[in-house]
Amino acid sequence: MSDVQPIFIGGEWRAGRGKVYATRYPADDTVNAELTAATAEDANEAIEAADAAWRRPNWRDIKPHERAGILHRIAGLIRERSEDLAQMQRRDNGKPITETRALVASAAGTFQFFAAACETLEETITPPRGDFLTFSINDPMGVVAAITPWNSPIASEAQKLAPALAAGCAVILKPAEITPLLALELGRICEQAGVPKGVVSVLPGKGSIVGDAIVRHPKVRKVAFTGGTTTGRALAHAAAEKLMPVSLELGGKSPTIVFEDADIDHAVAGVLFGIFSSSGESCIAGSRLFVHKKIHKEFMQRLVEATKALRVGDPVDVKTQMGPLISSSHRASIESYVELGLKEGGKILAGGTRPTGGLYDKGWFYLPTVFEGLSNNARLCQEEIFGPVLVTLPWEDEDDLIAQANDSVYGLAAGLWTRDFRRAWRVARRLEAGTAWINTYKLFSVSTPFGGLKESGLGREKGRLGILQYMDQKSLYFGMNENPLPWAEVGSKH
Ligand code: ADP
Repeated sequence: MSDVQPIFIGGEWRAGRGKVYATRYPADDTVNAELTAATAEDANEAIEAADAAWRRPNWRDIKPHERAGILHRIAGLIRERSEDLAQMQRRDNGKPITETRALVASAAGTFQFFAAACETLEETITPPRGDFLTFSINDPMGVVAAITPWNSPIASEAQKLAPALAAGCAVILKPAEITPLLALELGRICEQAGVPKGVVSVLPGKGSIVGDAIVRHPKVRKVAFTGGTTTGRALAHAAAEKLMPVSLELGGKSPTIVFEDADIDHAVAGVLFGIFSSSGESCIAGSRLFVHKKIHKEFMQRLVEATKALRVGDPVDVKTQMGPLISSSHRASIESYVELGLKEGGKILAGGTRPTGGLYDKGWFYLPTVFEGLSNNARLCQEEIFGPVLVTLPWEDEDDLIAQANDSVYGLAAGLWTRDFRRAWRVARRLEAGTAWINTYKLFSVSTPFGGLKESGLGREKGRLGILQYMDQKSLYFGMNENPLPWAEVGSKH
């Protein structure tokens, strides 16, 4: 038991009441860490502690610039430990080290950004319509929860934890069962940075046990969730029972559109990065590629050649572009989609198989895969695969293209490659997507709101006003009347 890592419950580092389990390195299936899962009882304890902690003067009543100071310290500690955290995330999730370094840097930037948002958040005086002064102010919601998936640990957690702390809330962080290590480290960093005891808890464990207990707890006022659409919908049902707001960042099946005037070098590189970075395990992966018929042949030749040249391999190596998939069962699910694509009449232009030999035989590797010959209503074009599988679709007519691109239950992101800015503007405005990238893809800025339409989710994260996602709006009326309201006689004895 001595090697079993503690978890962070209500300000105490201790074992959870659930089973002991191991997390594993997806590149070679060795054990990363042993820890205990949190249970519903642990969740109750953490939530009660959080409810007491956020009301204490050392959190509730500190000035915004003091709270911002704590967030800056968190950013500083992440930066001091950045290499250590990037290596830990590489093991936690199997992403290549160059990617995990970037995610750690972005997490630090997120805390820094929300420190500024906290310190500069203004409250408004609304126009007077009587003998009173009216203010619209924002209060922390209290106890909020952040439930995160396995695909971008530290970045997803920071995206929720930073604005929630900036707002003055207490946060129950529930990372994915299989990738808990970065969330636990963030817990330690918060503690070192001076976040008061009980304000942050980190509860790894099963979604159906600890996640569900958190969502249903009456003292949890809001849940910020990133994950699959099926889970998100179930969570929204549970939230509706207690009339709790949720923000949901869910799945996607994002179209990337190449116009006949595109800069081909940029478009090839951008399409590859859009689908194959993070091994395609990304909600914003550009998984449907629409290429104009005029350039389709030439473009696909270039793309297939470049796909075959991608460096799939050891996540430790800075040259690696694609690491393993997260788990053997996830790889099996991707393989069954590839089989389905063939059954649906698709043809594989690249990949479609596992690489073999050396490290490839130990971990959950899969080659970047490109399909052609499917139509947009094939299951491969309609369902989120969450892996390195791209389907290419030639197009000719702009209206038909837009209809096909929008023919999806999802609406998370889109990419456009064209030199014509008027067309980019026109088409981007008509695409049903929360984010459209023009002549780039998958770049992120914490200062710009992010979220989906349709079954890709509800609400927006990031942006200066992202802090308001964790605050209740309150109105204050200050009476300025010279005389009492005409309901009691002035000078009356009664
Ligand atoms: P993924 O497919 O990326 O694993 P999920 O939607 O299954 O996405 O999981 C995302 C997060 O939601 C994880 O932390 C998971 O444990 C949690 N989760 C899963 N089921 C539930 C549930 N019923 N209630 C609350 N959280 C859940």
